[in-house]
Amino acid sequence: MKYSNLSYEISRWSLGDLFPAYDSEEMKAGFAAVESRVADFESQRENLDAEISNTDFMVLIHQVEEISQLISKIGSFAGLWYTEDTQNQAAQNFQARVDQFGAEIQNRILFFNLWWKSLDNDSAARLMKDAGDYSYWLEEIRNFKPHTLSEPEEKIINIKDVTGFNAVNTIYDTITNRYVFKLSVDGEEKELTRGELMVYVQQHDPDLRAAAYQELYRVYGEDGAILGMMYQNLVRDWRNENVDLRSFASPMSVRNLSNDIPDQVVDTLLEVSRKNVSVFQRYFRLKARWLGVDRIRRYDVYAPVVKSEKTYEYSDAVRMVLESFDDFHPDIATHAKRVFDDQHLDSEVRKGKMSGAFCASVQPGLTPWVLTNYQGKANDVATFAHELGHAIHSMLAEEHTQFTFHSSLPLAETASTFGEMLLVDRLLEDETDEDVRRDMLFRQIDDAYATIMRQIYFALFERQAHEMTHQGATVDELSEAYMENLKEHFGDSVELSDEFRWEWVSIPHIYGTPFYVYAYSFGQLLVFSLYQQFKAEGESFKPRFMKILSAGGSNAPARILKEAGIDISQAEFWQGGFDVISGLVDQLEAMPLRVLDADV
Ligand SMILES: [Zn+2]
Repeated sequence: MKYSNLSYEISRWSLGDLFPAYDSEEMKAGFAAVESRVADFESQRENLDAEISNTDFMVLIHQVEEISQLISKIGSFAGLWYTEDTQNQAAQNFQARVDQFGAEIQNRILFFNLWWKSLDNDSAARLMKDAGDYSYWLEEIRNFKPHTLSEPEEKIINIKDVTGFNAVNTIYDTITNRYVFKLSVDGEEKELTRGELMVYVQQHDPDLRAAAYQELYRVYGEDGAILGMMYQNLVRDWRNENVDLRSFASPMSVRNLSNDIPDQVVDTLLEVSRKNVSVFQRYFRLKARWLGVDRIRRYDVYAPVVKSEKTYEYSDAVRMVLESFDDFHPDIATHAKRVFDDQHLDSEVRKGKMSGAFCASVQPGLTPWVLTNYQGKANDVATFAHELGHAIHSMLAEEHTQFTFHSSLPLAETASTFGEMLLVDRLLEDETDEDVRRDMLFRQIDDAYATIMRQIYFALFERQAHEMTHQGATVDELSEAYMENLKEHFGDSVELSDEFRWEWVSIPHIYGTPFYVYAYSFGQLLVFSLYQQFKAEGESFKPRFMKILSAGGSNAPARILKEAGIDISQAEFWQGGFDVISGLVDQLEAMPLRVLDADV
């Protein structure tokens, strides 16, 4: 294989392709360039009218794009530098300065957006006809035209949101971020953050898993009435503004339009998922057998069933990832290699460095930056494939504009999850140790559960809670409805306990970005369905998949997929995703049972 004799070492990235340093001459010039471009752009404000020529219009668009690229470069430098060392005060200050600068610039150029949205349909159609790759971006802005109010009304909403919707969310975050959770671990009384507490729900000790959940919802439950009241106010505000004033068909339609997915597609996704709820129930029953119990408790959903300590050398991990990409399509591996060659990868574990992993795409033509914390576990190798997948996605789409190369939210996880699956398949193929194979399969289904079914049931609850609140339901009635939601979700496969009635008040997404959660399910199921097509078709699938990736965000998700022969409005398509998960559960069911010695 062409990647077998390359040797890679754990690395720190270089931000040199953006700027040499935050206090460099180049950075000063960057700020100055934004200033002068924006001043120039503002001076052309009076040229904006329905009669503007196509040529003049395109000149303006290129100017907005240039401003947006300059800001993206400065903002990315600030953000990436901060993640290198989150304790670095100079980086913190610089980030705050850049945020402020960016917000001011956005406000100064906002008039273009407002004008474009207010333009009559005929003039807009004339201008969009020659706008090439910019047209989808222009179309997306205008999608909101029917729901836009007059300028003074929009201003009032903006002002009132600061002290209304946004303020309630800030207060919610402030209250809940302050929570301290107490847990007794090995006889020692610990005081933990939520993140630290949740580590214990994935550990071997069943009592500790139960204690961690009980403590989580004890604390949230103590404030349950007030957190629930905050939720109801947000939900009322959402409806008053979006359904009553802006005439959206339903509270969920607002989100669907910003994802540019038709309402019926989302309804189909939710329905098909609901029909497949037994797939994960079967998985939980299987998990019970592996844990040696009749039925798992809700506390045990993420319990580990295999103890595999296998680790992978860094250079082997890189090679496996590149080879699994290369097997699928050489272009994918070549693009991934660019991230290494350009020193855009930070893989080492350092004190103060941000935990977790991400990929940041700054602008077309510039290799994305990838951060991971490599510690050698199978999971770390999979994360590696995932983040490089994101990088590949934006590199494949780099002939698009600044506004259209980023894939939209519902397609954002396509390359990353697909890349991860290619790698896991390869690891499963090469792995002879049954424990390691099982560990990988269980992990894959645990993840699939958390990103698909769990999020679907959150979305179903949101839909119900918005309607119930509109009908005047109390907080306790919402908690009751949440328990009913969990009963349908788990059936008789999982034993529920009463404190989970407060789970819904602990989910920030349903407060801050209503109906956001289904996008996770959408993305993950889409990839499972695509993967199934790949398994069934082999070579002929590949060009279609590459076409989806290279479209980036240059068209509506449904249209990008339709061009690749995929119809997301059909229930069968989504069913294909569940069939893959069902197949994974089959594989696990076929494995010889070996209950772990309980080390509790
Ligand atoms: Zn991702």
